[in-house]
Amino acid sequence: MQEAQAQTGIDWTTAPSPAFVVDERLLKRNWEILKSVQDRTGCDILLALKGFSMWSTFPMARDYLAGITSSSLFEARLGYEEFGKEVHAYAPAYAAHEIDEYLTYVDHIVFNSFDQLRQYKEKVQNHEKNISIGLRVNPGYSEVETPIYDPCYINSRLGISFESFEPQSLDGVEGIHFHAMCEQGADVLERILVHFEEKYGKYLHQMKWVNFGGGHHITREDYDVELLVKLITRIQDTYDVKVILEPGEACALNTGYLVATVLDTIKNGMDLAIVDSSATCHMPDTLEMPYRPHIIGSGKAGEKAYTYRLGGMTCLAGDIIGDYSFDEPLKAGDRLVFTDMAHYTMVKTHMFNGVNLPSICLFNEEEGVKTVRTFQYEDYRNRLS
Ligand SMILES: *Cc1c(COP(=O)(O)O)cnc(C)c1O
Repeated sequence: MQEAQAQTGIDWTTAPSPAFVVDERLLKRNWEILKSVQDRTGCDILLALKGFSMWSTFPMARDYLAGITSSSLFEARLGYEEFGKEVHAYAPAYAAHEIDEYLTYVDHIVFNSFDQLRQYKEKVQNHEKNISIGLRVNPGYSEVETPIYDPCYINSRLGISFESFEPQSLDGVEGIHFHAMCEQGADVLERILVHFEEKYGKYLHQMKWVNFGGGHHITREDYDVELLVKLITRIQDTYDVKVILEPGEACALNTGYLVATVLDTIKNGMDLAIVDSSATCHMPDTLEMPYRPHIIGSGKAGEKAYTYRLGGMTCLAGDIIGDYSFDEPLKAGDRLVFTDMAHYTMVKTHMFNGVNLPSICLFNEEEGVKTVRTFQYEDYRNRLS
């Protein structure tokens, strides 16, 4: 606990449990980096709501970012109502009963096929608002190692493949979009651009914008911002287009925590600890990807004196967060602080097994930990019928 406070500057006894606590200071630091890229290149950077949609931070984000991108009707509406700047949309397919409402929210709409373009083009062009149409293409090249996070994995449904591209059907299309990265550096973008330009470069001259998607780990310490600036500038100068980036993770990377409490410790062949959180409900990526979140003050199994398998409070046997070791034995009431929990966690939480969601808190130096949302029985009930 003392180590967690020393490392984060947050008094964890003042937070509810379980809770996501997002540190405004760290958010601002990320957004300043993103803003500097926009200022230096004239590109637009959008927040991808899929990765981070904590809308109580939007009033702050608005000063740094050009808008949001959405991949569902609800995200588009959240961006329109709560962010209030540019709203972009891409979806693998748009449903006919949703498209009219979609169009009331968006400034850009990106289609995933020429058939979807043909189906909705007239509607978009006749809309009272000026909505820019784009197409998502698959550059046919990526370096993502985990297939479920690789938009260009074999037989991917995401983006028009080069063999299905119809150069004769680009009338009314103002932009080209690709998204082929995940947690990667500018060097990967540089290599993707080689393949992208080879296939689609000749069509870019007739476009107004090109969207490089997300997956750019711009706010990571070792990210090569200079190379990114160079690549954006070169593309904008070569093709006379505006570059758009839409990172989700980079906006909220290393800005928040999930604090949980040990409820009990038991033994079955090894020491087990049950916490008031859940891998399934609160950190599904630990099972899906899978990955191991860091807990402040912990080590790998066997590294420190006392090793525990941490499990969640559902009855699912596999609801296991992982094996961690500590200098002291765990006991009921101990707080555990998981790091880097702002992105792709809060947006993925759910109430399987009736487990309540973590509270959502903001931290700043003036106000300390401020709870902006808690969830009730009604939130659980109202998702069901
Ligand atoms: C997920 C996604 C993003 C954001 O990706 P990050 O890895 O969070 O930066 C951007 N654009 C599209 C189309 C996406 O699917």
